[in-house]
Amino acid sequence: MNEACPSTSSPRQTTRTAELVSTLTCPRCAHQTTLTMPTNACTYFYECTGCGECLRPLPGDCCVFCSYGSVKCPPVQEARDCCAPRRDR
Ligand SMILES: [Zn+2]
Repeated sequence: MNEACPSTSSPRQTTRTAELVSTLTCPRCAHQTTLTMPTNACTYFYECTGCGECLRPLPGDCCVFCSYGSVKCPPVQEARDCCAPRRDR
């Protein structure tokens, strides 16, 4: 579960190298769900299929995948701006 570094740097021609499948782990019941993330939107709310808890991103995270997923959302992986709140203010 604990990968030391993002060593998935296989050189490819494709521009889209982001990992799109993330495993969400519920902080409440530890239920895990593997989901495919949308590339053009962030999943802000997710209802746990285990306990029904409505998961929300932690402060500073833009979506539930960044907070509870094994893989962060595509925009974050590509260091793009998405719906993340600006931290400078
Ligand atoms: Zn749960």
